[in-house]
Amino acid sequence: VDYDVDRGWYDAKVTPYGPIALDPSAMVLHYGQEIFEGLKAYRQPDGSVAAFRPEANGLRLQRSGERLAMPPLPVDDFISSLRALLDADNEWVPASGGEESLYLRPFMFASQAGLGVNAPSTQYRYCVIASPAGAYFDGGIKPVSVWLSTEYVRAAPGGTGFAKCGGNYAASFLAQQQATAKGCDQVVWLDAVERRFIEEMGGMNLFFVFGSGADARLVTPELTGSLLPGITRESLLTLALDAGFAVEERKISTEELRKGVTSGDITEVFACGTAAVITPVGHVKSETDEYSIGDGTPGEVTLALRDTLTGIQRGKFADTHGWMTELYRR
Ligand code: PMP
Repeated sequence: VDYDVDRGWYDAKVTPYGPIALDPSAMVLHYGQEIFEGLKAYRQPDGSVAAFRPEANGLRLQRSGERLAMPPLPVDDFISSLRALLDADNEWVPASGGEESLYLRPFMFASQAGLGVNAPSTQYRYCVIASPAGAYFDGGIKPVSVWLSTEYVRAAPGGTGFAKCGGNYAASFLAQQQATAKGCDQVVWLDAVERRFIEEMGGMNLFFVFGSGADARLVTPELTGSLLPGITRESLLTLALDAGFAVEERKISTEELRKGVTSGDITEVFACGTAAVITPVGHVKSETDEYSIGDGTPGEVTLALRDTLTGIQRGKFADTHGWMTELYRR
């Protein structure tokens, strides 16, 4: 669907996947005015297709757009776009019961031709593409190693860290390459000001489990404006409370993590996001330090929360929070 400042949104259609024509001066190509979302649709046991909290993705797209001076797409239209895509073709949604799902990627970009930087584009295009998704990490759920990036900054106060815009990821590739070169799976970002508070992973939010059993407490970095407000993060805060765990959103520093792991207070660390759902973190490395968390297997709180969340998404457990939205029924 296209947008023009004088017409609003117009000309919604579903077309076969393929290249799209862009003016070489389209503002997205020069100034990166682009935002996106990522969510998953799951085949339910009765054959219908449902997405996990698509309304939350629609709202986050609006907040991202506001920061990048882009027009809001109504959430109803966002949901309709997902339904239209699945109505046209849902054969690619994997069967119920497995690890697979259909990844949906809505995105919006500045399509006006213009080389001036004084005002945002007056024209935009919003699209959705889809792709079947298997397990995110090779080898299934096993702890990943992370690189604490002290050299690079992902997002600063007043910047675009809370927005899901392409530029944030463009600025992240170099740090991810560095993490890989250091033998780590993923990069962990620190705050831009003090350079010691843990913000998030490259594409996932982080949780720290203090204590164990019924006394486990979960801590996740507070939303400072420079990390992405993950929908999985927010859902897990709710599910953790449901399970009787205490939860806290606050700052947590690299020193606190190091001390907590060494003293045994921090028993598990995991990352969460749409793509991987929940992934344990088993090893931490930085320019000056290196240590392991746990014994190389996923922790019990990590596994319990993962079970609950994936069970709801796949229609195995009751959807008590009304998180599943049907997108397709034969
Ligand atoms: N942080 C970043 C930087 C991300 O790209 C993602 C994935 N969207 C997340 C966190 C997790 O967000 P969500 O749970 O909404 O997928």
